[in-house]
Amino acid sequence: MARTVVVTGSTSGIGLGIAKGFAAAGDTVVINGFGEKDAIEAACRMLDEAGAATVLYHPADMTRPGEIEDLIRSTAKTFGTVDVLVNNAGIQHVAKIEDFPPEKWDQLIAILLSSAFHTMRHAIPLMKAQGKGRIINVASAHGLVASPFKSAYVAAKHGIMGLTKSVALEVAQSGITVNAICPGFVLTPLVEKQIPAQAREKGISEAQVRDEVLLRLQATKEFVAVEDVAAAALYLASDAARSITGTHLSIDGGWTAQ
Ligand code: NAD
Repeated sequence: MARTVVVTGSTSGIGLGIAKGFAAAGDTVVINGFGEKDAIEAACRMLDEAGAATVLYHPADMTRPGEIEDLIRSTAKTFGTVDVLVNNAGIQHVAKIEDFPPEKWDQLIAILLSSAFHTMRHAIPLMKAQGKGRIINVASAHGLVASPFKSAYVAAKHGIMGLTKSVALEVAQSGITVNAICPGFVLTPLVEKQIPAQAREKGISEAQVRDEVLLRLQATKEFVAVEDVAAAALYLASDAARSITGTHLSIDGGWTAQ
């Protein structure tokens, strides 16, 4: 039977890739995120063609708890429940701690960490009522290790690792698993934006930023594919992963082995 899958921040990049994976499995997917109307309609068509049972877009802003509540409640109203929740929405801001704008700090913590608290607190009662559920938090290699100039991102990603473990223990006897996925660098708009900025800042070429900065610790020397992250999400959502909870899957080309 088709599962109802909510993926936050899925108009682009990893989230859209995960939504496509669930669509191809014949699930109902609720996508969310920002973008032009035409691009969002194209994403919905793509998911439909990939095989989704139903596709719905919800515009909730992940900095607004009331809108997040509406995302979960309106999904449950339309489809009966939420079977799989993927907390994925994200942004990045790179700056020295002393130059880090406080409003950017608040925004990153809200989107990368607090939004998952809000989706979970509304989705878990629905999952408990049906005795099963899957929650997948897209963290990062930066949930395990740090890089300079990414204080808010690294703090939020470490935070979501703790949130994942804590909630996993709370719901362990309710048929619900809670896990994180920790990708290394994936070439999405979030990362592409950093390349020219870092080239300018460091006075090096864009190719050098890719090879010597971004892929420096990625032992494979290749970006992680969106499809590989989606495959991990589908596995964690499967029955075969029922005993995996409160942990993470690294998909980082060997980065955090060092
Ligand atoms: P992306 O920029 O391609 O996509 C981000 C998505 O989040 C978009 O759909 C965007 O509209 C949405 N979004 C941003 N702010 C939002 C808000 N306030 N409310 C609702 N939606 C919002 O980025 P991505 O690289 O696909 O990143 C997705 C997730 O993966 C993030 O949590 C990111 O931290 C994580 N991640 C990315 C990488 C990477 O290398 N790209 C590596 C590890 C983890």
